[in-house]
Amino acid sequence: KQKRAAAGDPKSPSLKEENESRILVFVRVRPLAKNETEAGSRCCVRVVDRRDVFLTEFASEKDYLRLKRLRGRHFAFDASFPDSATQQEVYSTTTSELVEAVLQGRNGSVFCYGATGAGKTYTMLGTVESPGVMVLAIKDLFSKIRMRSCDGNHAVHLSYLEVYNETVRDLLSPGRPLVLREDKQGTVAAGLTQYRAYSTEEVMILLQQGNHNRTTEPTRANETSSRSHAILQVVVEYRVKDAGMNIINKMGKLSLIDLAGSERALATDQRTIRSLEGANINRSLLALSSCINALVEGKKHIPYRNSKLTQLLKDSLGGTCNTVMIANISPSNLSFGETQNTLHWADRAKEIRTKVTNANEDILPVPETETDQSKLVLKLQKEN
Ligand code: ADP
Ligand code: MG
Repeated sequence: KQKRAAAGDPKSPSLKEENESRILVFVRVRPLAKNETEAGSRCCVRVVDRRDVFLTEFASEKDYLRLKRLRGRHFAFDASFPDSATQQEVYSTTTSELVEAVLQGRNGSVFCYGATGAGKTYTMLGTVESPGVMVLAIKDLFSKIRMRSCDGNHAVHLSYLEVYNETVRDLLSPGRPLVLREDKQGTVAAGLTQYRAYSTEEVMILLQQGNHNRTTEPTRANETSSRSHAILQVVVEYRVKDAGMNIINKMGKLSLIDLAGSERALATDQRTIRSLEGANINRSLLALSSCINALVEGKKHIPYRNSKLTQLLKDSLGGTCNTVMIANISPSNLSFGETQNTLHWADRAKEIRTKVTNANEDILPVPETETDQSKLVLKLQKEN
């Protein structure tokens, strides 16, 4: 709570009254990679006070010697993580509050974006030794559930899907593309596996396998570029008794999104977006930019229907949701242009306001039928 209000925005008290909330924006700088060091690159980003990012733009060593100081630009965020930040630190600062909110029947979403190789998948999924936000969130969720209920009335369901080239695929149960359909909860992917999860250990394995099912595509030599967006949705369903001893069904949904590489596609104005549409640029990413621009400008019409990604994330962007963005950047001057682009975009994302409405009540998703659900789980267990 305090963090949201203290984000340096004089308008925040009134925003709170109107039940509006700002998107929280964080930046994470990854360590210099071996190939970047070998190529003789230097570091062009510095994190100041765990909050701001300073991007230097001097052209050469000579310039630097002449100026005796670094010329550059400061960007202020809710927090920024230097390359020494741990996965746990990133999780606690960016996402743990959303996990708490999900247990109170609210929705939350975390987006990671940045150029290919900037550290999105490391931040979201991580490795077996250093699990990322997705796994730490689920671990935290289970431990919070254990602490607050001894009657086991919480159910945790996971789905993991990808949007690639405007096609939606189930990452837990790869097969035919899924069709999007509207229902009273919003847009859902018909037939998507809902995996009932019981422990963090199984989830880590499940997500690693799911990640292997993602579509990657070679671009330049020795490089693979991911143009696929991966979305993990964690739905918690539970029952509580109200004052009149009536049983109320509640649910909260957390969406964790590892976006496709944003190179050349993070446009902050409508003209650039239009010029990029002709090029072979990720349509979902452009649509995301358009929606964010429309939200920033307070437009009535938000073009969610322009892509599969924005259709799926409609309630995570403008709707009833706490939203967090993590911008990933490389510290190397070889990526200066991409880093600058990512930071500008992140800076703009701070302007987005979302309306957080009351908790979801009595809108439990009804599984198609109980047997359908168990069949899917069985099928998945057999395949894995
Ligand atoms: P992206 O998903 O944005 O394309 P990755 O997450 O795959 O990028 O990161 C590229 C490489 O950098 C990977 O080898 C990854 O393990 C490494 N890496 C990224 N961020 C970090 C970090 N914070 N600490 C250590 N290694 C990292
Ligand atoms: Mg990746």
